[in-house]
Amino acid sequence: MSRSPSLPDRPRLDLDPELTPEERLEALRDHYGDVLQVNAKLQQQLESAQHRQTELEERVDRLERENETLKSASMYVATAEELLDDGVLIKQHGNNQEVLTEVSPSLRKTLEAGDRVGIDDSFAVQTRLDPETDARAQAMEIDESPDVTYEDIGGLESQIREVRETVEQPLLESGQFEAVGIDPPSGVLLHGPPGTGKTMLAKAVANETDVTFIKMAGSELVHKFIGEGARLVRDLFELAAEHEPAILFIDEIDAIAAKRTDSKTSGDAEVQRTMMQLLSEMDGFEDRGDIRLIAATNRFDMLDRALLRPGRFDRLIEVPEPDREGRHRIIEIHTEAMNLADGVDLEALAGDTDGLSGAELASLATEAGMFAIRDDRTTVEMADFRTALEKVRDEDEAPGLPVAFA
Ligand code: ATP
Repeated sequence: MSRSPSLPDRPRLDLDPELTPEERLEALRDHYGDVLQVNAKLQQQLESAQHRQTELEERVDRLERENETLKSASMYVATAEELLDDGVLIKQHGNNQEVLTEVSPSLRKTLEAGDRVGIDDSFAVQTRLDPETDARAQAMEIDESPDVTYEDIGGLESQIREVRETVEQPLLESGQFEAVGIDPPSGVLLHGPPGTGKTMLAKAVANETDVTFIKMAGSELVHKFIGEGARLVRDLFELAAEHEPAILFIDEIDAIAAKRTDSKTSGDAEVQRTMMQLLSEMDGFEDRGDIRLIAATNRFDMLDRALLRPGRFDRLIEVPEPDREGRHRIIEIHTEAMNLADGVDLEALAGDTDGLSGAELASLATEAGMFAIRDDRTTVEMADFRTALEKVRDEDEAPGLPVAFA
């Protein structure tokens, strides 16, 4: 432990009564100078003491947290089924055991029936798991305000128009649908090759309509939560209802909604259950409030046709690979903030990038920038784009690492 530094001596003022007024003034001046010096020293000591105090406080804080983590035993997950006068009725996950248990008054105030909670060995409720931190919800991405706008999307004007008609309008003008007497379309399915802007489209509508964007990948449902897919789908729709108005985006929907096969492996049965849950959630959609469903797939051919019945995904929107004009716009968007040399011809690049997706064009721009940096330049030249294009094309033929990191 470091010892506290000694305090500076206190300056003394002994005025001889014999002194002339001038001498007195001089002595007082000297004294004042000494006082200032001591003050500065003390100030310095105070500052370093404060600094040390902050350091120690941080250390205490860290140790306390470590201590808490070490002390806290793992908890079991349960659902609070009912709040009763003499406790909470919980149902433990896994074994479905129902227990009437205790909860602290302060925690009880925040609890509602249906909440998921953490319980200890003696079943006492320790904490409430909010949907965002709930392990199940971690596979879902909640974005209260995504920052993609329609202007950020290149070459998909007609797709944007359709998505606006089917998703944006019902969210913004639900009264109009009621007045005309028709149900708004409940779901939109975007299909097309990877990296063409499907997720961007969904995010942009959420942004432009100012609603929450909730995303989940179908593959997560299948791979990460074996045996739990159906439940997760229910959770997903519940989460959306809690955040309404919301756009629910299910990416890679083919993972849970592929055509039924004859094989009877348990994995397939699980995927089937997940899809049945999805269909039933979609059928009961109208009662859920302001939620719109957007799903996306790269494998439209694989989808179970049951998904495409009226009332489910009643709009199918194809998001194709960009054409020349689309590519030009996408390159413009992704190079907008870049410092381009005069000779850079984006129009020509659009002509040379046939077959590249929006995501690959975005990589092309980043990659060109990287070449300029490697060359110690701050402007990006046409040659950088050419070299980047070769790299992106190579990568396209031998996919592996994302282009920007290859
Ligand atoms: P996947 O099917 O692989 O999920 P996706 O179609 O959902 O892909 P996005 O995630 O929307 O593709 O696009 C990935 C990235 O590629 C975007 O973040 C963006 O940088 C770029 N991009 C793709 N399409 C476009 C586009 N039309 N305009 C501008 N940028 C685009």
